Amino acid sequence: MGDYNSKKIVVVGAGNSGCSLARFFCQRGAKVVLSDSRSEEYLDGLKELKNIPISFDLGGHTESLFQGTDLIVVSPGVPVNLPVLEKARGLGIPIAGEIEIAWQELQAPLVGITGTNGKSTVTTLMGEIFKCWGKQTFVGGNLGKPLITAVDDHWDWLVVELSSFQLETIHSFHPKYGVMLNITEDHLDRYPNMDAYINAKARLFENMTSDDIAVLNADDPLVAKLRGQVKARPVMFSGAYALRDGMSFNGGEIHWHWRGETLSFPVEELQISGRHNIENVMAALIPPLLEGCPADLAWETVKLFQGLPHRMEVIGARNGCRWIDDSKGTNIGSVVKSLSGLKAPVTLIAGGKDKQGDLEPLREAVATKVNHLILIGEAAERMAKAFEDITEIHKAINMVAAVHLADKITAPGSTVLLSPGCSSFDMFKSYEDRGKAFTEAFKALDVARGC
Ligand code: ADP
Repeated sequence: MGDYNSKKIVVVGAGNSGCSLARFFCQRGAKVVLSDSRSEEYLDGLKELKNIPISFDLGGHTESLFQGTDLIVVSPGVPVNLPVLEKARGLGIPIAGEIEIAWQELQAPLVGITGTNGKSTVTTLMGEIFKCWGKQTFVGGNLGKPLITAVDDHWDWLVVELSSFQLETIHSFHPKYGVMLNITEDHLDRYPNMDAYINAKARLFENMTSDDIAVLNADDPLVAKLRGQVKARPVMFSGAYALRDGMSFNGGEIHWHWRGETLSFPVEELQISGRHNIENVMAALIPPLLEGCPADLAWETVKLFQGLPHRMEVIGARNGCRWIDDSKGTNIGSVVKSLSGLKAPVTLIAGGKDKQGDLEPLREAVATKVNHLILIGEAAERMAKAFEDITEIHKAINMVAAVHLADKITAPGSTVLLSPGCSSFDMFKSYEDRGKAFTEAFKALDVARGC
């Protein structure tokens, strides 16, 4: 446990985890400064800190504060190479992240879940399984509550979603289970290259030993390669072929082969759809089953799970077309998976803040499934160039225009899918905000047409 009494601490980033960190350090007697490049009107969470004795450094970072402090703690959204941080690092001032600070306070065994896509789904579902088994379970991290909010309670299990940004600043963090779902291109606006992104993700395993378990996706070549590199014992899952030891999907069933035992789970009983969700279910089942959770109880929980909002969420039907909100599809790999679960023809609404990822992996899915591609946001130009030879391109100035256009040009029997392949921050506050704008514009269509 850290002793923060009377220490001077600068917390960088006043989002969800930064505000929780400020509160945590303050409760432990530290002198806290919360610093953010944004000014107060953009920081909703500050209201919650009104009665807490901390200082603020907003609308930019004051160098002298960073250089005269005992510790700097960065939020995941803050690049660790900010000039003000580089200078403080040069002066020998320790810089830590929220996950590491929280870890030093926690005793319960932890499942860390990372990957490019599926983290929130797997974290939520696995958390549900542990809870239904009667375990006191914290579910959070990169989703929902920051891990630092777990420190004052007793937990049997911590089920924690981790982004590559959060893993960049760990030091002694040591999960009992590390789950790596997949690795496809993402965040190349923040990482210099793909290797740097993979290395950040693989840090999940760096303190794990042969007493721990690495749950790995056998079908993803970059993840499967980790099998020979991690010290933890690998347990694999595969949606493509049968595994002698591990979890796999074939013939409509998930099979769990483990130490001579075989269990089967029929996927037709699931409420969530798509091949990617079968992978997510397999990953979510492995740690609880290895810990002794009764299989029938675990499967009951999985069967009841309806998925999370904005992830392939069917929002309605109109004129014989199904409309799906996949606003959380924020990178190219997730759009490929989402399209793979749909029948052609699809009208795809995509675009947003460009993460500069390679668009090539999406070409086949667009060529075979997408009749109309409606593009919005900053990435529209680049995406139009990448796909103009294989589908019909349309541009829309905002979400309402995109929805109206989709409604007009989509033939009955098709699907309208919002799966942007980009983050939302050029036009919206968040992916949730973007998904809501899509649903609201869809619902308003009936009003607009007087039906
Ligand atoms: P994350 O938390 O990693 O962003 P989510 O569970 O929120 O992942 O899902 C985000 C999107 O990623 C979904 O809408 C879907 O398009 C895609 N997705 C989910 N699970 C997977 C998976 N296992 N493999 C590939 N894509 C996935």
